[in-house]
Amino acid sequence: MGKFKERIQQIKKKRPGYGEILDFYQKIREAQDDMKASLRIDPIKLKQELKKLLAKEGFSLIQKEDFPLDVESSVNLFQSICQIGKSANPHLAEQAGKIEEAIGNRKIDLKKLFEKGIEGKTIEQVADELGLDKKVFLFLVQASIKPSVEAAREQLHGELNSETLLKGYCPVCGSFPFLSLLKEEVGKRYLMCSYCGYQWRIDRLFCPFCTNTGQESLHYFYGEGEKAYRIDLCDKCHQYIKTIDYRNLAESDPVLEDLATLHLDILASQKGYKRPVPSPWTP
Ligand SMILES: [Zn+2]
Ligand SMILES: [Zn+2]
Repeated sequence: MGKFKERIQQIKKKRPGYGEILDFYQKIREAQDDMKASLRIDPIKLKQELKKLLAKEGFSLIQKEDFPLDVESSVNLFQSICQIGKSANPHLAEQAGKIEEAIGNRKIDLKKLFEKGIEGKTIEQVADELGLDKKVFLFLVQASIKPSVEAAREQLHGELNSETLLKGYCPVCGSFPFLSLLKEEVGKRYLMCSYCGYQWRIDRLFCPFCTNTGQESLHYFYGEGEKAYRIDLCDKCHQYIKTIDYRNLAESDPVLEDLATLHLDILASQKGYKRPVPSPWTP
């Protein structure tokens, strides 16, 4: 946490406009870390056929809804994060207020919501019914189950070799990546899962969203004066992925670096490219 806080201070100094969002993220990280000590999740029983399919066809080991969650801790964390959201910004405060009201008059049953397993559709339906901002609601739910999801992912580490060149989706849970990372001097490229955070090795010239490998239709731009961040664009599917270049940056939390470079998402969006994995902060 010490390094993490230091990095936040560094970014704030350079880009004061990000103060609010980084404070919000820091508080969420602290709340998530507080949960870790008491977290209880069931062991994952992998289906042997799935393991074989992974080796053969590159299928993922489990599905999003198969992640064992600590429901009680997720409920508590959800409520803490809503509280944090109340002082973050007016939009989040409004959303958190609406959610609290819905919990109060039993339109949301958090325990049931987490017990059912988290499936994008269900969350979207709940958001629709209650007139909530889907991206915000999805973010709150995912942030609340993150400690459970990461603990489950750790259980599966031994089943995978992250250095094998894999597909555009996560070998653990099948979700799309939300970031790409360049590491070591040679610039090995990794993708980071938007759901479970797993990192896996991938070709340098490759669009994870449409599997395009054409040199003429894949390009990138760097942020002005920012050698550590770039946007990788695909002209085939008109989507992009942000890349954190750790050859030009000391080790730090990729999620934090992503939040601190939202101006690049705005640029990419202005150029007509989409970010496939939604976040409350991206266009
Ligand atoms: Zn994953
Ligand atoms: Zn593409």
